[in-house]
Amino acid sequence: MMNDILVDVRNLSITIDTFRGPLRVIRNQDIMLRKGEILGVVGESGCGKSVMVNSLMGLLPEGRTKIKSEKFEIDGENCQEYEEEDWNEMRGTTVAMVFQDPMTALNPILTIGEQIYEVIHRSNAYGDDYDEKAIALDLLKKMGLSTPEKRLTQYPHELSGGMRQRVCIAMAVAGRPKILICDEPTTALDTTTEAQILRLMQTLAVEAGIGIIFISHNLRVIAQLCDRVMVMYAGKCVESATVEDLFNDPRHPYTIGLLMSLPQGKWHGELTAIDGQPPDLYDLPRGCAFNPRCKWAMRICGKRIPMVSNIGNNHEYTCWLAKLEGL
Ligand code: SF4
Repeated sequence: MMNDILVDVRNLSITIDTFRGPLRVIRNQDIMLRKGEILGVVGESGCGKSVMVNSLMGLLPEGRTKIKSEKFEIDGENCQEYEEEDWNEMRGTTVAMVFQDPMTALNPILTIGEQIYEVIHRSNAYGDDYDEKAIALDLLKKMGLSTPEKRLTQYPHELSGGMRQRVCIAMAVAGRPKILICDEPTTALDTTTEAQILRLMQTLAVEAGIGIIFISHNLRVIAQLCDRVMVMYAGKCVESATVEDLFNDPRHPYTIGLLMSLPQGKWHGELTAIDGQPPDLYDLPRGCAFNPRCKWAMRICGKRIPMVSNIGNNHEYTCWLAKLEGL
């Protein structure tokens, strides 16, 4: 349904001016997120996944970034001409973010309570008459933190890494956002805490209807958590599908390579890594950007950029092999 759409971005390109010249980080990318959906974004470091999601919060370097799109709507608002002031209003209220390192995301000289209260005040999400402490306590309880009353008076350094990340999620949802962007939020956590945080994310999507974009380099985490996945390579999504379709019927050679490098699962035979390195974005290979690393590369792959093929159920991939299969 149209009114379920929280993010609708078409043909997005992002270029950042760097000391080596303009760097095209994202190339002609679409992003779609619906209410209550968890969208995974996966890819190697430097593939552009963080830049892409940072653009949804206006968090790219001002004055050095050129963003072009046919459509850039967040929660029904056209954000193409947004100024810093507009993004400021949107951050924390419509879109909120959870970062990888909770220690740097939290202010070390303020108590947990003070930091959550600030988000509650700024959000204007609770009307004129509200009890900030009751709201904060309720949030901390929902995040599974023990003795929440005590936590409100503590400083970030007094909590464990897992507790700090739960506090960050509590702060992110304190402004009742519709969209939550999570940039590798469990990378620094142990497996048990990671599983608890992932369950928390699922609850937020199902019970509060929050649309979540979850960035990870870890396909195992994506498989556990997400409804849909985008596989990014060199600034572009090369395959997108539901989690079931992507894991049961991967089509793009890069996706297949990622799945074969997993230590367990259907695609695991002999553990294999993808040969070579991701390309230099300043100097992308001609044709398909994956062609120097691809076992199935054909002559056309080094000459022309492949088109997108849709094989049904919104399963899309960008590879010349699809044309061989008549897709
Ligand atoms: S287009 Fe060619 S090089 Fe690129 S992934 Fe497909 S087969 Fe490999």
